[in-house]
Amino acid sequence: MAPRIVDLTRVIRPTGADAERKFVVNIHDALAEIPGKERPAGEWYVMSDVALMNHVGTHIEMPFHCLKEGADLAQVPVEQLCGEAVILDLTGAEAEFGVTLEQVQAAAQAAGGVRPGDIAFGRMGPTKYFSSAGLAWLVEQGIKLMGVDSGGVELSHDTTHANVNHLLLFRAGIPLIENLTNLGSLTKSRVQVYALPVPVSGLDAFPLRVIAVE
Ligand SMILES: [Zn+2]
Repeated sequence: MAPRIVDLTRVIRPTGADAERKFVVNIHDALAEIPGKERPAGEWYVMSDVALMNHVGTHIEMPFHCLKEGADLAQVPVEQLCGEAVILDLTGAEAEFGVTLEQVQAAAQAAGGVRPGDIAFGRMGPTKYFSSAGLAWLVEQGIKLMGVDSGGVELSHDTTHANVNHLLLFRAGIPLIENLTNLGSLTKSRVQVYALPVPVSGLDAFPLRVIAVE
């Protein structure tokens, strides 16, 4: 049977310049000013200036997001961004202070376990983030890349902005993907994942395309 490819990426819709998470596109017809250059209707030759806030849509955050000496987009090896992913179904997990250790372990067991070198994707339910204990357990299992279909993993009740959960991942060299989508349309709990941002040196985060193959 032919492999099934599932796009786990949200579509980015360009915004105005004053949007909170802006993605502004200005299209220029690169040949419009050339005299005598007539094009048939419906054709042009465009290039665009793009101005964006880099945490927009489905995006990946590298350790450099919180750690000055952490790896940036160009430094994390592609081997870390491709491989087998375990899908943790946390849609039924509800907890006041983030998905608990027990809920993470139960989801891992239902998915056939978390193995060293796995990518771990959390399919979140009403509780959209992890408790530190639950996230730390995934790090201890030796995951190489983390992702969620919510806006992030950080403790929502932590008003100190200590970025505890981000740092749990980044100190272990683990990048984080936020705002995945379509995890519910996967039919298997283990899939092959490719999550490849452009390698921009000195940058902490960027939108990327994430696909799963099952
Ligand atoms: Zn972000």
